[in-house]
This record gives sequence, C-alpha cells and structure tokens, in this order.
Amino acid sequence: MITGAFEYHRPADLGEAIGLLSRLDSDARVIAGGHSLIPMMKLRLAMPSHLVDLAAIAELKGVRSEGGEIVIGATTTQHDVIADELLSDRVPILKEAATQIADPQVRYMGTIGGNVANGDPGNDMPGVMMALDASYVLRGTGGERVVAARDYYKGAYDTAAQPGEILTAVRFGAPSAGHGWAYEKLKRKVGDYATAAAAVILTVSGGKIATCAIGLTNVAETALFAKDAADAAIGTAVDKASLAKASAAAEAITSPAADGRGSAEYRTKMAGVMTARALARAFARAKS
Ligand SMILES: Cc1cc2nc3c(=O)[nH]c(=O)nc-3n(C[C@H](O)[C@H](O)[C@H](O)COP(=O)(O)OP(=O)(O)OC[C@H]3O[C@@H](n4cnc5c(N)ncnc54)[C@H](O)[C@@H]3O)c2cc1C
Repeated sequence: MITGAFEYHRPADLGEAIGLLSRLDSDARVIAGGHSLIPMMKLRLAMPSHLVDLAAIAELKGVRSEGGEIVIGATTTQHDVIADELLSDRVPILKEAATQIADPQVRYMGTIGGNVANGDPGNDMPGVMMALDASYVLRGTGGERVVAARDYYKGAYDTAAQPGEILTAVRFGAPSAGHGWAYEKLKRKVGDYATAAAAVILTVSGGKIATCAIGLTNVAETALFAKDAADAAIGTAVDKASLAKASAAAEAITSPAADGRGSAEYRTKMAGVMTARALARAFARAKS
C-alpha cells in the first residue's frame, strides 16, 4: 500500500511551521513520529496535500521542570519518556504506560505530542494525562493557549485544537511524593492497542485514599475521565465493596464499539476490571 501524493516540508523552527500551516491549504497536516499518520495515509484514510514535519524543531524536544510544573516537549518520543530520569522519579506512571505502547520500534519514533494530539481513543497517553490533570499547550497564528486534557477530546479524531494549531508541549504539576500510580492495560498480544485500560493516580492519608483521579483508554470514542469511579474510591481503604462501586461507576460511563478485541459488553466489563486492578495496585504502592 502506498500513500497518496503530498509535498514534504521540514521547518527549522516553530514560527516557520506555524507560518507554513497558515499559508498551505487546509489539507496540510503536521507529522511527528508518523506511526499513526503514515498507516492512515497508506490506507487512504488520510490524504494530506502537504506534510509539515516537526522533527527538526529543537524547541519541541525534551523534558524539563519549569515553574513548579513538568513540561514534556511534543516531539519527545515514547522511548525518551521511558529513559528520562526526572519522569521515572517523579511521574512513574508515564514509564509504566509508555512501555505498554506497541513495541520498541514504534516507541523510538512515536512522540508524546502525536499520541495525545491524534485523538484516537486507542492511544494510551490521553487517559494517563487525564489522571495527571495535564494540560496541552497549543500554538497557532493567534498565539498560545492551554487546554486541559480533560477538556481536549470531543470525539474520535476530533479535538479542541483549531486548524493550523500545533501542540507544542504537555505540562502538569508532578504528583506529590509518596503518591500511588498504576496503568493497567488489557491487550490481546504484545504490541496491541488496549481492549480496555485504566490509569490511576492517588494519594493515601491515614490508611485511606485521600485524592484519586482515573482515566480510561479505548472504551468510548475518546479517552474518559472517570470522576464518579474516583469519588467512589476516595475515603476507602480499597476494600472489596469500594472496588466494586468504583468498577461499576467506571463501567457506567463507557460506550465501547464491538471489534476484534471483544463485544461491547466484554469491553465494558474489562474497563471495570482494569479500574479495580489499577486502584488496588496504586493503593499498594502509595505511602500513607
Ligand atoms: C504497530 C503499531 C502499534 C501501535 N500500538 C499503540 C498502542 O498500543 N498504544 C498507543 O498509544 N499507540 C500505539 N501506536 C501508535 C503510536 O504510539 C503513534 O506513534 C502515536 O499514536 C502517534 O505519535 P506520532 O508521533 O507517531 O504521530 P504522527 O503519526 O506523526 O501523527 C498523528 C496525528 O497527530 C498529529 N500530530 C502529531 N504531532 C502533533 C503536534 N505536535 N501538534 C498537532 N498535531 C500533531 C498529526 O497531524 C496526525 O494527525 C501504534 C502504532 C503502530 C504502528
């Protein structure tokens, strides 16, 4: 399978990239790692007239601590996320989730910005970013704006980004020391997208969950922020009854499609199971 014809552009900085997107026709697309876009182009599900490659833009790469927040540049790869010491130390859920994405070859190319900007409900990072209460920094001809991950996803491949905007970074406050975390992903085989997955970030005080946030992957048209499930867990010591309540609350907001990964009923049930497993593991990891 080969892609349709397109013109390739490799801007040297962000200003040039934004300028190109504003001048080129509306079918121009940004390309980062290409590991979602190129397969779609080969299937002719995407037929961009121009590709604007972000690879040479130095300011989009890397992880830094800035003003009390952690900032991950959009073209930081999944491999870089796994290898980064600051992230492993302060936000270990990112390493846990990134190591469950595809395979090493994909992770060497696939970027954090591409993963969250894509809008595919099967991507693992959007649910994790919802659990972390991350924000996405967007830049276009109108300047810079910041959108919360929890508000970013409107439908499958439909996001709050405006035409011509580039997602430049993901930023969030690091979870407090001693927090609990887990990313539980059910997949048919190594390298597959999730049948269902759950991301949990929590804190424990006096032996009970004090704060909790949960994101769900691939059980609706978008990643889901499972507020009721988290609320059901807060104030509990993750006993059987509270896990059952949290699972039921997670299941209640799902609307998965039936596909090769299972029926809608099965995938809904698995969203509950992944939520319970992630809560239990995050709780066991947290320090009171
Ligand atoms: C075999 C295989 C298995 C995979 N399994 C998984 C999996 O289990 N979990 C998972 O999460 N992913 C999986 N992926 C997808 C992979 O992680 C992609 O790399 C990732 O989804 C997209 O990142 P990218 O940098 O490759 O983006 P690209 O493919 O370059 O772009 C994806 C989309 O995002 C847009 N985009 C990219 N960067 C930006 C930006 N900075 N600003 C605005 N728009 C942007 C592009 O225009 C395009 O529409 C798999 C891919 C393959 C090939």
